[in-house]
Amino acid sequence: MNHFLCCPRCNSTKISTRDYARKAGSVVGTAAGAAGSAAAALGGAEAGAALGIVAGPIGSIFGGLAGALMGALFGGAAGCAAGAAVGEVIDTTVLENYECQDCGHAFSKPPSQS
Ligand SMILES: [Zn+2]
Repeated sequence: MNHFLCCPRCNSTKISTRDYARKAGSVVGTAAGAAGSAAAALGGAEAGAALGIVAGPIGSIFGGLAGALMGALFGGAAGCAAGAAVGEVIDTTVLENYECQDCGHAFSKPPSQS
């Protein structure tokens, strides 16, 4: 609980989180997710084009674009969420994610404090 967290150096309760890994993770995850979904996006484009053919050549183009766009969007969003989740774990377990607003002391959350 952040409410009970206080600085181990000066006992101030003005503690902020830095969330470096979470922010980096969401950026990396978005890029990785978008890149990783490129193949899926192409598959979506093909499926969209195949469906669009029923509506004619123009429908095929729009169907393909919509399929590719949906694939990239979903891939990016999923990657962002996954990256943020991984980053959050790194933040709370590995990095000194808490920073005292009064003395600037950075520290990590005590592992067994409830
Ligand atoms: Zn402090």
